Amino acid sequence: MNQPRVEDDGDPTAMSIGAAQARILEAITPVTDLESVSTRDARGRVLAADLRSPIDVPRFRASAMDGYAFRHGDGGNARRLVGRSLAGHPGANTLSTGDCLRITTGARVPDDADTVVQQENVIVEGETLRVTTMPERGMNVRDVGSDSAYDALLIPGGTRLAAADLGVLAAHGIVTVEVIRKLRVALFSTGDELVEAGATPGEGQIHDANRALLHALLGDAAIEIDDLGICPDTPSALAKTLEAAREADALVSSGGVSVGEADHVRDVLGANGDVALWKIAMKPGRPLTFGSTGIGQIFFGLPGNPVSAALTALLFVRPALERMLGASAGTAHATVTAILDGSLHKRPGRVEFQRGVLSTVQGSLPRVATTGAQDSHILVSLQRANCLIELPIGSAGAKDGEKVTVHPFTGFGHSPL
Ligand code: AMP
Ligand code: MG
Repeated sequence: MNQPRVEDDGDPTAMSIGAAQARILEAITPVTDLESVSTRDARGRVLAADLRSPIDVPRFRASAMDGYAFRHGDGGNARRLVGRSLAGHPGANTLSTGDCLRITTGARVPDDADTVVQQENVIVEGETLRVTTMPERGMNVRDVGSDSAYDALLIPGGTRLAAADLGVLAAHGIVTVEVIRKLRVALFSTGDELVEAGATPGEGQIHDANRALLHALLGDAAIEIDDLGICPDTPSALAKTLEAAREADALVSSGGVSVGEADHVRDVLGANGDVALWKIAMKPGRPLTFGSTGIGQIFFGLPGNPVSAALTALLFVRPALERMLGASAGTAHATVTAILDGSLHKRPGRVEFQRGVLSTVQGSLPRVATTGAQDSHILVSLQRANCLIELPIGSAGAKDGEKVTVHPFTGFGHSPL
């Protein structure tokens, strides 16, 4: 075997991604405060409790076709045309033997009829209808409750309401829903080298990229971001920022994640707060601080390099926020298998997420290639990507043509990159 000679990147004290995620989720207490919102404003909000159907939909038997309603058992292929039932204008609800009604899609089928023949399958001659192709009994009639029956579970609690849910709610006449109140997440960047994107950097300074990135990645209809700006690397500035974040449920900072700096955060948090510095066996994004503030808010200190900040936000912060919201679909995301174009190298010891471009191939597995240089400060590696390529902890890379596991960005839920 021709094993590549690589330095071991393992760290026996490092925590696995799964263990870190589990510890974070364990520390979360879901929010229980509710709010009533208009269905129209409910997209992306988390439904508070199971919602059962207050009515049958459809409420009446309705035609699925433009055609003619009649009683199947009347026999023969000829019917007498005696009236009509149009959508919104149901007409008579009775029908005598041998009679039929002109009917349009969505119109009420009279109680005396059991079948609708579509108009393409009849010949109308004056008052007489001749059915050229006889449908089976019951055809083209939508039964009462066939979309959803009264008291059926319509939408489970914990659902992040999407467009189809809003349609379902409206179809059931529901104009307001109870949702979990919005989460408030305080976001700030740390670093004496940072200036706002709109400011001119001095010597040795850089624009703050992480706040724009994390704001977009974490914020959505159910998660309100309080942007607390750039916090200089001093205990007093941090104390001030924490004070400004008192109303938040969670705090997310980036930068300043190292042993000394975690101690410094711990000092500022005081006796009732605590953060731990974790070395996570992943690349990028090895250091992460996690804990709680003195008033019980959860605290994430993400790495400063933008790509590391984005990945740790996706893998750790997003699932934590979903759990806080009680969102049911929250933490897992789908992966796909793809064929790698080109070779990738890594050292064993950490799971590595390279940024990739995934493309589908008709009739075979999709293909994936990296976006090029992968250092964690190279933000365009992320911006040009549509997925992450996961290289397992023990692997030394993957060869051209090998199968690899890929995490499409669209699988990360409400805020794909
Ligand atoms: P730190 O974790 O503070 O040691 O930062 C690691 C690297 O990320 C350094 O090169 C920082 O300048 C950079 N960095 C930290 N915060 C940001 C930010 N908000 N935007 C862009 N780069 C950052
Ligand atoms: Mg820093």
